[in-house]
Amino acid sequence: MKPSPNMLCPCGSGNKYKKCCSKYHKGAFAPDALSLMRSRYSAYAVGNSSYIIKTTHPDNPDYTTDIKNWEDSILSFSKQTNFLGLEIIDFIDGEEEAFVTFNARLSSGDLKEKSRFLKLFGRWFYADGTFTDAV
Ligand SMILES: [Zn+2]
Repeated sequence: MKPSPNMLCPCGSGNKYKKCCSKYHKGAFAPDALSLMRSRYSAYAVGNSSYIIKTTHPDNPDYTTDIKNWEDSILSFSKQTNFLGLEIIDFIDGEEEAFVTFNARLSSGDLKEKSRFLKLFGRWFYADGTFTDAV
């Protein structure tokens, strides 16, 4: 999906993209893990692979210095998938570590995940996630 400023934000906030995740995609720091999670979902929806890469913690299993390949795999997932909505199930905030459990509705099926976020140099990063049905 090509992002347009006036479309509803893919993260499901009910706000326009330009008033929602767009500012994070343009470089503002997400103030908490929940905003980061929502903006990452939106980034997948609009095919912003560099945002996904920039907000991934270096300890994440997907993290690689082979940026080209990583970008390609994000973009192909993004192109092959319709992003139908995001439902936040739980948010556990913390100083250095936070958890967001969500259900991402994708054309390929629902993806339920409990994601872990870590703060590094004052910014939140996606650390890792476990798929869950126990929600
Ligand atoms: Zn948003």
